[in-house]
Order: sequence, then structure tokens, then C-alpha cells
Amino acid sequence: MKERPSFPAQLNRSSARPKVQAAPAAKTLSHGVGLDSSAVRLNMVARLSKQGVTDARIVAALQEIERHRFVDSALVNQAYEDTSLPIGLGQTISKPSVVARMAELLCHGVSGKLGRVLEIGTGCGYQAAVLSRLADEVYSIERLRGLHEKARENLRYLRVANLHLLFGDGMLGYAKGAPYAAIIAAAGGEAVPQAWIDQLAVGGRLVAPVLKGAGHGAQQALLVLDKTAQGVRQSVLESVHFVPLKSGVA
Ligand code: SAH
Repeated sequence: MKERPSFPAQLNRSSARPKVQAAPAAKTLSHGVGLDSSAVRLNMVARLSKQGVTDARIVAALQEIERHRFVDSALVNQAYEDTSLPIGLGQTISKPSVVARMAELLCHGVSGKLGRVLEIGTGCGYQAAVLSRLADEVYSIERLRGLHEKARENLRYLRVANLHLLFGDGMLGYAKGAPYAAIIAAAGGEAVPQAWIDQLAVGGRLVAPVLKGAGHGAQQALLVLDKTAQGVRQSVLESVHFVPLKSGVA
């Protein structure tokens, strides 16, 4: 089993931004990891709060989940910056502010925990871990076997019983877990697959990046879709940059 990188960053209390040190060999720092990363994470969460992330459930989840465990050892020093990072196979881990924003959209108007949640695009598993703190059950699908397995490995330390990692084409959703209180996609396509809408519960909400416009001018934006007894209500929000939603598995 691959050893997870230790967290080498130290919080510099005199500056608003955490200064990170060059990563020493992972082996030398296998102790005291928790303390260091917790302080830097607190700093990241404080910055996100300043930018408007106020939901206490989400703040707690972001503080708890150790993002540095989800990136390769060479990138550990950047794990608490608000940036997306490569996770292999041409995919990226989402920016913390985007994970927080999408989670806020899902949790909006819901008191307590979300019920069952479907995530399309597990990637390295970071967002799935955050969601596992906000929901009763999380089903997360990944179409690339290499990443599905990486996520399983990354998530082992958390021992989350309510997170189910699935290998398959998320464009088909996952009917066995339906209906879902919330569906969240971490990859963007031209339109929301009908299967997702079918598998969303009445009263449920879907948040996904979708392409608006056509041809070269097409841009991704965040779509919020609410399913009601009368039908679906959609709103298109700010521009976003997600990897493309692809069909089939690889
Ligand atoms: N949720 C991740 C982000 C992963 S990037 C995080 O925590 O940061 C988006 C992922 O969606 C990629 O791993 C990509 O392979 C996956 N993806 C794209 N199309 C998919 C599909 N049809 N079904 C399942 N996963 C898909």
C-alpha cells in the first residue's frame, strides 16, 4: 500500500497566508502531522468564511477533512491553497471554494443533514469525504478505474461507513440508491442527463456545471435544478471550470 504523504506545512502566525516550507521526505514527518495540518486548514477555512462561506456544517466539514491526503506528495504544500490541482489521468481536485459553494447550494434550506446524495465524479475522493459529513448516505461514481481505486485508498483513513464508492458511468446515475435528496456533479456536460432528474427526489436539488451557449463561445456555468411536484425549476449561476463529463468507463 502506498504511504500517504505527511503534511509538512507549518503555519506562520504572523502572516495572513500560511507560508509553507519545502516538503521534507515523507518518512521524516510521520509524527505530529495532525497538529500542523489542522492549523493550516483552519487558516484556509477562515479565508473561505471571509469570502462568505457561513454554513456551520460546511465550515466544520472543511476543517475536518484533510485535503492534503487527497493530493500527490509533490503537491502537498499547495493542498490548502484555494486552487484546483492535478490528481492524475488528466483530472483535477476541485478548488475548496467551489466545493464549499456547491455544498452550500445543496444544503440551502435544509436543516440538519441531507438525506441520500449522489456525486458524479469521485476523482480523488475529497468532495465525497466532505459530503459524507453533510449527508446521511453518499453514493459517489467515478468512470476512471485508476481514480476510483485512488479514492478508495485516500479515503481509507477516514473509515466512513456512509460513503459508497462506485465504479461506472455516472451519466446513468445510480438507480439503486434513488431517489436522492441531492445530486452533485464534479464534471460538466452539455446538458443534465435525464437519468439524474429521474433519480432526484421531489423536493430534491441538483447542482452541476453545464455548458451554456454553443460552439466556441460555449462556457460552463453552475446550474441549480430543483425538482418539485409541479416539475423542475432551473437557475444558471456563475461561470465555473470543471473537467468534461464523459460517457462510458475507462
Ligand atoms: N470530486 C472531485 C473532483 C473530481 S474531477 C474532487 O473532490 O475534487 C471530476 C471527475 O469526474 C473526474 O475524475 C472524471 O473522471 C469524472 N467523470 C467525468 N465524467 C464522468 C462520468 N460520466 N461518470 C463518472 N465520473 C465522471
